[in-house]
Amino acid sequence: MLNLDLGLRRDFQFPFIIADVTKGYDEHDVKHFIETNGQPIHAKARQLDPKRLSIAKEEFTFMLNNEIIRPSNSQWSSPLHLATKKDGSYRPCGDYCQFNAQTIPDRYPIPRITEVSSIDYDQIADAQTQDEELKSLQTITSLNLKEYPLPSGKYLWCDTSTSKIRPYIPQAFRKQIFHHIHGLSHPGIKSAIKLTNSKFIWPSIKKDVQLWTRTCIPCQKAKIYRHTKTKLGEYEVPLGRFCVAHIDLIGPLPPSRGSIYCLTCIDRSSSWMEAIPLDNISADTVARAFYSNWIARFGMPHKLITDRGIHFRSETL
Ligand SMILES: [Zn+2]
Repeated sequence: MLNLDLGLRRDFQFPFIIADVTKGYDEHDVKHFIETNGQPIHAKARQLDPKRLSIAKEEFTFMLNNEIIRPSNSQWSSPLHLATKKDGSYRPCGDYCQFNAQTIPDRYPIPRITEVSSIDYDQIADAQTQDEELKSLQTITSLNLKEYPLPSGKYLWCDTSTSKIRPYIPQAFRKQIFHHIHGLSHPGIKSAIKLTNSKFIWPSIKKDVQLWTRTCIPCQKAKIYRHTKTKLGEYEVPLGRFCVAHIDLIGPLPPSRGSIYCLTCIDRSSSWMEAIPLDNISADTVARAFYSNWIARFGMPHKLITDRGIHFRSETL
C-alpha cells in the first residue's frame, strides 16, 4: 500500500503493484490472450533517423538482455514510435491503432461494490443464530424480519419493512460495517446514518454510527467543523460633522508627481473623504499632511481612528 499526497486535505490509500523491470521477472504461468478478427495486421518497419534509431536499438538491447522482450516470428506487427518525453528524451512505444481495431474487446463486467466487499454474510448468518438482540427484535411489529437464503445454504435474517432488504448485523460486525460504508467517502454524521440505515439494521444503529463518525481519525484530521465568523464592528454615532476622523495609509502605488503613498481621511458623520498624496510615510510627513490638509480646514477631530499601524503610533501623531 502507498500513501499518496494528492495535495488534497486527505490521504488516499491505493494498492500498487510496483514492477521493477530492471530486475527481470519471476517465473509464472499466467497467459494473456487477445482475441482478434480477420487477417493479421502487418506493418512495415518505419525508417527512423540515425539519432532515433540508435536510441531505439539501445532500448531494445536493454529489454532483450533483461528478458523483458524476446524475438518474435508472429505474423502480427505494429510500427514503432519514439514519443518525446517532457525532459526531451525518447520513449519507444508501439502504434497499436490498427491492431486495436482488429481486437475483440474483453467485456469483463466491472464488479459492484457489494461484490468486492469484505462483508462475509455467512459469518454474519452464523453470528445471528446466537444473537439475543435479534430475538428481541423479532417481537417488534414495526420491523418485518424474514430469513433469506445465502448462496452457501445458510439463512440471513433481514428486515423487509422498507423497499430495501436490510440484513440484521450482530454486535461483532457493526464496526466493520460502519468502516465499510463510512470509509469510502467519509460522509458526515447525517449522511453516514442515512447510508448505513438504508442498507443494514441493528438496534442502536444511529447512536453507534454517530459516535464512530465523530471519532473517525481521518475525519478529524481533514474536516473543518467550525467556522469562526467575526461580528461586524459597531461604532457609536458621532456627535457632529468632523468630530471623528478615520485615517489610513495606502501604497506604495505607481509614482504620480513623485508621490507613491496616499493618506486617506474619512469623516465618520458625513463620509467626506480626502486622499492626500505623500512622498514618504514617515511620522513627520503624515502628521504634517494631516494637519495642513484636514485639521487646518475642518478643525481638530475629537477622535482619530487608525488601524494602529506603525506610522500612527509615533510620538509626533
Ligand atoms: Zn471518517
